[in-house]
Amino acid sequence: MTASSSVQTRSPATPSRPIPPLLGASLEELTAWVQQQQQPAYRGKQLHQWIYQHGARSLSEITVFPKPWRLDRSDVEIGRSTIHHRSVAPDGTTKYLLRLADGQIVETVGIPSSDRLTVCVSSQVGCPMACDFCATGKGGFTRNLERHEIVDQVLTVQQDFDRRVSHIVLMGMGEPLLNLDNVLGAIACLNQDVGIAARSITLSTVGIPGRIRQLARFQLQSTLAVSLHASNQALREKLIPSAQHYPLEALLEECRDYVKQTRRRLTFEYLLLAKLNDLPGHAEELARHLRGFQSHVNLIPYNPISEVDYQRPGGDRIEAFANILRQRHIAVSIRYSRGLAVDAACGQLRASELSNK
Ligand code: SAH
Repeated sequence: MTASSSVQTRSPATPSRPIPPLLGASLEELTAWVQQQQQPAYRGKQLHQWIYQHGARSLSEITVFPKPWRLDRSDVEIGRSTIHHRSVAPDGTTKYLLRLADGQIVETVGIPSSDRLTVCVSSQVGCPMACDFCATGKGGFTRNLERHEIVDQVLTVQQDFDRRVSHIVLMGMGEPLLNLDNVLGAIACLNQDVGIAARSITLSTVGIPGRIRQLARFQLQSTLAVSLHASNQALREKLIPSAQHYPLEALLEECRDYVKQTRRRLTFEYLLLAKLNDLPGHAEELARHLRGFQSHVNLIPYNPISEVDYQRPGGDRIEAFANILRQRHIAVSIRYSRGLAVDAACGQLRASELSNK
């Protein structure tokens, strides 16, 4: 893309970031860009509508634009991916492998129900955190996703389902707080341009020292979910190598500050691994940490991956763990992952496995 066709796009953390693809740009930015191209300002609104509402993949598709101009500008990238692979589970959960402009493959999952369509979005190609129970972590890290590559995942699912996306969970591949600028830029775009309520967006993190505090400054209306997965430091370090550099107390302190500053309730995710972190003593220990915390615990029964031999606890153990928390007045829910049949459940996103099948 030529320098003249680049747009200055919003970004809370890096205002000067140049984004050649048009996807991810706001109405104002698109309007400024069309004017730079000697087009009238109202074409900015048209461009915005065609990118975000009609899902245009190239300028040539935008038939309301003057023909010579749109055909001349084939160098202008909108920034859409192509669907490399798509598999649908019996419950309708659909896993996509999307091919990006540089050939990298990223995973996205569409999870439909009667009243919502949720997209599980990736923030990185791979993940550097190497959590022991996570398929993505086993595959290593390739690169951060750009803002438009995050937004594209949502538009792709929306178009494929021919239905509006209502909820987004940043729970696909990657650690969002290691790609904060692009993630925040994408959330702003999904909210303002795609029209998804900020409150219907959840960002999930394993915790990076100092980043939850940094995130608090943005006062997001979205929900922050923190992957705790253990009730003490020693256990957490075994499951999550990065925890060695981030004591549980320090993580909880940042979470407490987050709640105080944003006045928003936080979600703690707790992966349940049979006989490892699901004993009554663990539930009691967790409850002690969370006493008086404005939070909610989301229990995630482990979804087996081939590389390790952790076990998923049975229903009785899961209920028993939840009950101990409830008795101690901790709000708790249990997440039974959907999409197991397409390897699309939490922690099972791994492009290489599926593309080799
Ligand atoms: N990096 C972010 C997003 C990761 S995926 C984070 O760590 O929060 C979203 C959730 O799925 C995380 O809580 C993650 O720990 C969990 N997860 C990973 N592997 C899993 C598995 N095999 N079974 C169940 N949940 C898993």
